[in-house]
Amino acid sequence: MNTIDWKNLAFGYIKTDYNIRCSYKDGKWGDLEVSESEYLNLHMAATCLHYGQEAFEGLKAFRGVDGKIRIFRLDENAKRLASSCKGIMMAEIPAQKFQEAVLKVVKMNERFVPPYGSGASLYIRPLLIGTSAQVGVKPASEYEFIIFVTPVGPYFKGGFNTTPFVILREYDRAAPLGTGTYKIGGNYAASLVAGQRAYDLGYSAVFYLDAKEKKYIDECGAANFFGIKNNTYITPKSTSILPSITNKSLMVLAEELGMKVERRHIPVEELATFEEAGACGTAAVISPIQRIDDLDENKSYVFSKDGTPGAICEKLYNKIRAIQLGEEEDKYGWITIVE
Ligand SMILES: *Cc1c(COP(=O)(O)O)cnc(C)c1O
Repeated sequence: MNTIDWKNLAFGYIKTDYNIRCSYKDGKWGDLEVSESEYLNLHMAATCLHYGQEAFEGLKAFRGVDGKIRIFRLDENAKRLASSCKGIMMAEIPAQKFQEAVLKVVKMNERFVPPYGSGASLYIRPLLIGTSAQVGVKPASEYEFIIFVTPVGPYFKGGFNTTPFVILREYDRAAPLGTGTYKIGGNYAASLVAGQRAYDLGYSAVFYLDAKEKKYIDECGAANFFGIKNNTYITPKSTSILPSITNKSLMVLAEELGMKVERRHIPVEELATFEEAGACGTAAVISPIQRIDDLDENKSYVFSKDGTPGAICEKLYNKIRAIQLGEEEDKYGWITIVE
């Protein structure tokens, strides 16, 4: 245990001491159960295995400047998981139970919360799956809610940096009236081939356009997009993007910094007018975009000539990190302290 090198941790899986589980049966959720096993005993006809009844969440716990453990916007993850469950007809875990389970699993694995200043954090992964046997296409009658945690290293190993993205029109992540707004495994399966293709071409992720018209900006890989121009923070409005909690928070902080905020359709050509651009999500907070290559149109939208992030991206990044680490006042009630 003393052998964890916090500064060189990857974004991978490391076994921790405990996970939390809760079963839904006969129309109700049972009590939280603590497990030391990393495995599930699952029926081979469970709906999660055949029909994709699986939703998940991702959030982080941080060791603050005062030594306390802080969790960022836990109530938002609870709401989003409930929405994902509703979206694919699974039993919804009540927000109260979700929060109780997150606090408990973090507390029990406290020794895995990386120290302040390491840049590392404890990643929290809740998931909810259909477990009862079903052969016809129907929702399950039984569900399992699980949360495991694993320490993850700093996203930016060589410091806050920009990366390139690529537009690949021959792939869609989610349909306009499909399941893009839910955090479910199926959307990820649908994105793997395109993601690998982008990676093989030397990009960090696919820059998705709207599936119907390929006219507007949707998402950057598994992160939301924002562009900055004329002191305005602009982020797409779309029926197929996942509502990012990081993006929601950045909109509030951008306003606090005196910027205007717009959530609207963003035509792909408008990329040429942005002074800065970024991808945002829990993993990186902000991953500033160096450039977006449109291979079909033989065009390139460049936001950083020398690879350094823009000043506003950096300011927003530092602000959200400071709140997460307890260095800045939690004005908006975003932090839950693990007692
Ligand atoms: C999880 C996720 C995000 C980021 O959401 P956060 O709440 O900010 O972590 C963005 N897009 C997709 C597709 C996601 O799954």
